[in-house]
Amino acid sequence: MLGLMQDWPLLVTRILDHAAQWHGDREIVSRSVEGPIHRTTYAELDRRARSIASAAGRELNIKRGDVIATMAWNGWRHLEVWYGLMGIGAVVHTLNPRLFADQLDYIVNHAGDQWIFTDLTFVPIFEKLQDRLAAVKGFVVMTDRAHMPAETKLRNPICYEDLIASGDTGFAWPQLDENEACGMCYTSGTTGNPKGVVYSHRSNVLHAMMAVAPDALALSSRDTVMPVVPMFHANSWSLAFSAPMVGAKLVMPGPKLDGQSLYELIDAEQVTMSAAVPTIWLMLLHHLEQNPHLKLPHLERVAIGGSACPEALMRAFVERYDTEVLHAWGMTESSPLGTFGARKGTLKHLAHEEWWRIKVKQGRPPFGVEMKITDDEGRALPHDGKAFGRLKIRGPAIAKSYFKDDGASSFDAEGWFDTGDVSTLDEHGYMAITDRSKDVIKSGGEWISSIELENAAIGCPGVAEAAAIGIAHPKWSERPLLVVVKKANAEVSREDVLAHLTGKVAKWWLPDDVVFVDEIPHTAAGKISKLTLRQMFKDFVFEAN
Ligand code: AMP
Repeated sequence: MLGLMQDWPLLVTRILDHAAQWHGDREIVSRSVEGPIHRTTYAELDRRARSIASAAGRELNIKRGDVIATMAWNGWRHLEVWYGLMGIGAVVHTLNPRLFADQLDYIVNHAGDQWIFTDLTFVPIFEKLQDRLAAVKGFVVMTDRAHMPAETKLRNPICYEDLIASGDTGFAWPQLDENEACGMCYTSGTTGNPKGVVYSHRSNVLHAMMAVAPDALALSSRDTVMPVVPMFHANSWSLAFSAPMVGAKLVMPGPKLDGQSLYELIDAEQVTMSAAVPTIWLMLLHHLEQNPHLKLPHLERVAIGGSACPEALMRAFVERYDTEVLHAWGMTESSPLGTFGARKGTLKHLAHEEWWRIKVKQGRPPFGVEMKITDDEGRALPHDGKAFGRLKIRGPAIAKSYFKDDGASSFDAEGWFDTGDVSTLDEHGYMAITDRSKDVIKSGGEWISSIELENAAIGCPGVAEAAAIGIAHPKWSERPLLVVVKKANAEVSREDVLAHLTGKVAKWWLPDDVVFVDEIPHTAAGKISKLTLRQMFKDFVFEAN
């Protein structure tokens, strides 16, 4: 017997319908690429998304199923393009401006992008690259007539505000199937070529519903949400969907992501919740430390993830600024939210420091994410907080394959996706990332977590950033080398760092050496590039060898 409930396809435009109808006057505040702060509302976003949808169909011949790229900061026009194009069944492919030209060229051609919507900032990138993007019909520059570059070499440049002015604000969305694709994002590709993840309307709506829950990002209409996590990488952690879903005010930081600019927006717009990677929060903290009179009276909580959040960073927010920190883990393939570090009811009784030992972990899965750890043969490992193995996940907002079937070996016959992360799971269900499987340091048949070494080193006074890699060793196969960037004007020695680590990690985990560099290389997604670092130190030999 079938249920007798209504068929109501989970389409992302329904989120905007809801926001426009029930929270129509709620503001969206953006720092524009052109400079000034821009203000609009959900009602206006809805009208302009419909305009761009109708104009894209009529003027650019964009059709259901076409893949259309955006390269843009978080801002109101980017939201209009997302909702407008997804609403007509096009697939919005977000491009990360921090990718190298060769990677961009590869993914635009691999995805089959037909048009590129670009912020003014990125026009020079495409002027250089466009000859390698033969299938791209033209470029929509997301600005008004007054700011259109007077002379651009771009092929077929179109002014966004002219295009939208020709559209119809009352355009009716077509009926789509909830399983149709609406978004695409490529993995950062630290090994081999980047791989395409294709989101559906259904997966994005379900993912946003997971994200708003109290033990997840806990969003409500009373919140003012500032997504620092970019729309161009992993769906801005759902915030472009989940904030409108609950009618939260949105504050979009545009191109300025330095500590001072973010502080100004947090303060002026009274932001209550924000989400970003650790590097961003370190910059904000630095700004606060430089200006001790500044406080964060409105900022109730921040979500930190994307790479491991050092305990010192979490404590700084909680203990100095009374801002709660939620550690989260996820990846492009999981839309991206996979775990959240919210406290369980059964752990309420824990003493303060006991809870902190769990709070620093990456968290536990919400409804909609199945999770297990296995050994290399696929045998499930115990949830004892000690055994570490391959982290595998399954669920309705997790990829079942990559675009064009690349990387098929990451998916097994039972639908589990091998994340490439190595982790533990404890008896309460909290997961802790130990490493990327290719980054763990294999010493004498045992594994050393590079992430734990890095987190411990970050707490050492004078250390700005640290990265641990395995260096070939004749006896142990690999031993850890710690690469450190000092804070400006700080005096810190190899011995200081080793003394700081002693007692914080197992003795046999202590790095065999510590070297100081001016800069640690990062990937386009802002993570430490272990691949580049291993290249840099490929001839390194420990002195005692
Ligand atoms: P991406 O798909 O580029 O977002 O990268 C996903 C990867 O980032 C994951 O597989 C992890 O290796 C890493 N990652 C994300 N969040 C965390 C976190 N909270 N702690 C440690 N690593 C993380």
